[in-house]
Amino acid sequence: MKMYVAGQWIDKDQKIEVRNSYDNSVIDTVPRADRGDIERALQSAERGARAMAKLTSHERWKILHRAAELLAARVEELGTLISREEGKIVAEGRAEALRAVDTIMESAEEAKRVHGETVALDAASHGKGKFGVTIRVPCGVVVAISPFNFPLNLVCHKVGPAIAGGNAVIVKPATDTPLSAIRLTEILLEAGLPPEGINILTGSGGDIGDALVADRRVRKITFTGSRDVGEHICKTAGIKRVTMELGSNAPVIVMPDADLDKVAAAVASTGYANAGQVCISTQRVLTASRVYDDFLDALRPKVSALKVGNQLDASVQIGPMIREKEAARVDEWVREAVASGARVVTGGTRQGAMYAPTIVADVKPDMRISCDELFGPAVAVSPFTDIDEAIALANDTNYGLAAGIFTENLEWAWKFAREVQAGNLHVNWGPQWRADRMPYGGLKESGFGKEGPAYAIEEMTELKMVIFHLQS
Ligand code: NAP
Repeated sequence: MKMYVAGQWIDKDQKIEVRNSYDNSVIDTVPRADRGDIERALQSAERGARAMAKLTSHERWKILHRAAELLAARVEELGTLISREEGKIVAEGRAEALRAVDTIMESAEEAKRVHGETVALDAASHGKGKFGVTIRVPCGVVVAISPFNFPLNLVCHKVGPAIAGGNAVIVKPATDTPLSAIRLTEILLEAGLPPEGINILTGSGGDIGDALVADRRVRKITFTGSRDVGEHICKTAGIKRVTMELGSNAPVIVMPDADLDKVAAAVASTGYANAGQVCISTQRVLTASRVYDDFLDALRPKVSALKVGNQLDASVQIGPMIREKEAARVDEWVREAVASGARVVTGGTRQGAMYAPTIVADVKPDMRISCDELFGPAVAVSPFTDIDEAIALANDTNYGLAAGIFTENLEWAWKFAREVQAGNLHVNWGPQWRADRMPYGGLKESGFGKEGPAYAIEEMTELKMVIFHLQS
């Protein structure tokens, strides 16, 4: 595929191969963007921002609404593309494509609601004759940098609100999975987006990221990815708006009154979907000592029954990880935990990029499988004695994206919601659940700023205060 810069689809001699991680076959190639392409994209985006700012709310709604319709008509094709480039099973690829329709449709609706409010300036002691309103205006040029694991929907979460807010956007998709984002760009242009309202640059973030992020013409960066790259971007960006959607090692607390079959079903689903490569995957299962062994007995058969293999085979439930070296890293962390006293209940084996769904029990908080982001198909199970210890363990991390609790006790559920330091808190389900319209984002080193179109538009527009000094 080609990349789209300054209103043109362009190719280059220097290419990047996009591979299916199941068999390492080359699916496609994309051009490798260089500094010259960045400059062309920035100049184009400045022109694009002027064109976008002139669009009415109705025109922005119409473009996004049409794009959502076009996406909906291509769900099957896009789902398969996601599955091929990312390695997630076809059902998950299709589900992501369907969610992308929601995200763009929601962005379309929110394009109609970009507004300010009146401010009662006459409530100030010196405010007689003063009248104030706030208005929201576009930031201008938005840079959207996205990760590999949701190559379509997470791009939609950036591009949809950026367009709804009247901005031009430069997309930098993950090098492993750029194809769905290129398809999205085609669809937006077909839907009537001004030609310079979007640019998409394919190329290594390590090579081109700094030049893009540091540039003063960029007024807003929306980044989803790892904590370390996020921190680097924050340091490089200088004074501009930044949203950071970073990683996590999400905990689930299993209280002694929980329905263990329900917990086991939820952990088997929320810990292993997309081979555990979801920022809100269940990673740490903190389990009341009283039900610890019973819970492991309930979870083991569900996890060991998960079928691993070719993601395009409809009977497979877990596909390969994005790269073989990631599966090797997960293997190393599991082995390291075992060497320090943990035990493998099921799984713990690797074949190329495929890592068997794994349960590791008796995990201590200082083991990497617990305190770092694992981002793979394994969960770490640890015991606790009471709710205070469970909450202390849940919070014993630099991350804070999502958490879950299983209990029928309202007092425990409310204490969890108030005291666990995470942006999304689930009562009676695992942390890996999201509706695309809800405010979504982390606390602590999981980032700052919210996604969900209504909330992301606030991050992608500037609030101005207008004061009328009247005679009466
Ligand atoms: P990553 O390695 O941090 O890469 C994310 C993006 O940043 C890619 O497009 C990457 O480009 C780019 N990048 C790399 N270095 C850069 C630099 N110096 N300047 C600018 N951009 C740069 O993350 P990943 O492995 O793709 O994704 C997994 C991570 O994303 C996990 O930590 C996961 O938790 C997190 N995540 C968070 C959320 C959330 O909503 N909070 C959602 C999904 C994923 P290249 O691909 O070219 O290196």
